[in-house]
Amino acid sequence: MAKKTVEDIDLKGKKVLVRVDFNVPVKEGVITDDTRIKAALPTITYILNHGGKAILFSHLGRVKTEEDKAGKSLAPVAKRLSELLDKPVNFVSETRGKDLEDAISNLGDGDVVVFENTRFEDIDGKKESKNDPELGKYWASLGDVFVNDAFGTAHRSHASNVGIASTGIPTVAGYLMEKEIKFIQEAVENPKRPMVAILGGAKVSDKIGVIENLIEKADKILIGGGMTYTFYEAKGLGIGNSLVEADKVELAKSLIEKAGDKLILPVDSVTAAEFSNDVPTETHDYDVPEGQMGLDIGPKTVELFADVLKDAKTVVWNGPMGVFEMSNFQKGTIGVCEAIANLKDATTIIGGGDSAAAAEQLGFADKFSHISTGGGASLELLEGKTLPGLAAINDK
Ligand code: ADP
Ligand code: MG
Repeated sequence: MAKKTVEDIDLKGKKVLVRVDFNVPVKEGVITDDTRIKAALPTITYILNHGGKAILFSHLGRVKTEEDKAGKSLAPVAKRLSELLDKPVNFVSETRGKDLEDAISNLGDGDVVVFENTRFEDIDGKKESKNDPELGKYWASLGDVFVNDAFGTAHRSHASNVGIASTGIPTVAGYLMEKEIKFIQEAVENPKRPMVAILGGAKVSDKIGVIENLIEKADKILIGGGMTYTFYEAKGLGIGNSLVEADKVELAKSLIEKAGDKLILPVDSVTAAEFSNDVPTETHDYDVPEGQMGLDIGPKTVELFADVLKDAKTVVWNGPMGVFEMSNFQKGTIGVCEAIANLKDATTIIGGGDSAAAAEQLGFADKFSHISTGGGASLELLEGKTLPGLAAINDK
């Protein structure tokens, strides 16, 4: 179902509540990566250009106790936003109360206020994270319309997304939310074929829902990363000391059976005696010998995967092919990135925090059609789940 967006409502002179995802890394008061702030700019700029009064809010990190508040203020974010917008941004250091209400009534058309970390409301009874209805009602009372652009929290039912929306205030999606949904949902529900899913990362258990959903949807599923060895165990192949989830071997067996020749496992691994970049590596076809652990897919697997990928029209990738954080074990992930970069006419999507980080770190970020900004939310979309934050947005 298509959702209303910021373009479907009148913003002129309206107090526009905007739930953004400003959950950026902050070290000693300095923002170390402002990608998420930049990702929110199209929506904010659109609202300001159309005469809205923007009231912005977000969570930042986890806040359970008074001490957790240190370093979790949105003040540095408001400052950075002011630089990016090249205009003043008023910051209110509370999540409710007179200062906030006054700041909002003083807003002129095209003005911006940011208020404090929504999770500061979690100290006293988790009001934000448990979606306390009073809190959602209070925040909703501060505005005329609600724009939800926080895709990264769309899989959560919190006061600052679902709570506000469920008061009945007109609720629409921002551009980031719209873009994430368009790419990921379309790739899963209505892909151009052939569709190839690449699934890796550490554990099968994190990705069961995704594998089960994509077995139905994809034409091929390529498996890499640590989860390879649980599948190997299921097939009776040698795994040495590789990562394995003993309680998921039966599940792996049934997935192999269900998927048939859709599911493609690595044919070789790069291994080492320790989880370390400082010991010699070996390459082995199929079985990993005793004393070794599989830490990356091998060169033959890269070739095999590249061959499957070359005809793909849709590629969905979640989970690195190896321990890409160590230079000895990044060739598999690089190889898959290269194969994807070579595709001419395909929609290519990365969902997953570490996979996105890998593509950035290895220099392939601009080669993808879409890199999701929301790890957990994109995973749940790939699982075919309904995201509560998305469901709460008004239908077109
Ligand atoms: P994402 O965040 O993209 O969903 P995951 O969190 O599932 O990805 O997995 C990422 C992690 O998996 C990385 O830190 C990587 O080092 C690890 N990993 C990949 N391959 C292996 C392997 N063979 N053995 C152990 N860990 C692995
Ligand atoms: Mg991860």
